[in-house]
Amino acid sequence: MRIMAIEQALKQTGLWNELEHHEGKKADLTDIKRAHSEGYIEQLHLIQPDHGQILVDEDTAMTPGSLEAALWSAGACALALDNSGSSTRQHAFVATRPPGHHAEHRKAMGFCFFNNIAITALRAADVHHYQRIAILDFDAHQGNGTIDILGNDKRFLLCSSFQHPFYPYSHYEQAKFNNVINVPLCEGTGSATFRALIEEHWLPKLKAYAPEIILVSAGFDAHKDDPMAELSLIEDDYLWLGRQIRELASKRNTPSISILEGGYNLNALGASVAAYLRGLSD
Ligand SMILES: [Zn+2]
Repeated sequence: MRIMAIEQALKQTGLWNELEHHEGKKADLTDIKRAHSEGYIEQLHLIQPDHGQILVDEDTAMTPGSLEAALWSAGACALALDNSGSSTRQHAFVATRPPGHHAEHRKAMGFCFFNNIAITALRAADVHHYQRIAILDFDAHQGNGTIDILGNDKRFLLCSSFQHPFYPYSHYEQAKFNNVINVPLCEGTGSATFRALIEEHWLPKLKAYAPEIILVSAGFDAHKDDPMAELSLIEDDYLWLGRQIRELASKRNTPSISILEGGYNLNALGASVAAYLRGLSD
């Protein structure tokens, strides 16, 4: 339903025909293993049910199709990475699920099995030899899994904004990581405060870092109508975010890949993604 809502919004706004579309593909296990332990991957395959569903953690249901879907989800991100970087394909958006940013090195959490953004970042470093990879995460929930996998690895700069205190009850609010910039947001935070905090804390660091590629955990559950969080962003804030990323990327034709995370009000999700892509593509 979430993917269909995005597709419908892109068609209604006319953006659909301006974009180049690609089908995803299944991820190679080599890509998954850069981010997750072999034991964890084996365990997921062992517990996958033949019918019905099991709970892998209190929020994360697994059905017979879940692992296959998670592998395709990560594979679509790898495909976007491999296709990116040309002048006509500077920015990519991966409309995919399940999401990934809560999945830790050896733990499924919060609807996530494999950490799509970390898997993409590690492929960008190991296969494409990028040395400065910026990761932005504006989902309402902190990307604990991404920090678990990439924290203190100097090839990556992780900029995160999230409702706080809130799920996943931030294990990472302290400055334990030398490559993480946290922007915690109080319940109810709206456009003006959000933009001011991003301008103050993210943008100067990102400009100074001069990333060679920008990866985005694009969650849209900080929208005021989202049922899963209590922040108050509107569509225009996602347009603004898209523009900030485009401006950051424009100087050196830096590629960007945005990967869908949360966003659970279907109307708000579709409109927010359309606004974000409008900002990103101008
Ligand atoms: Zn979220």
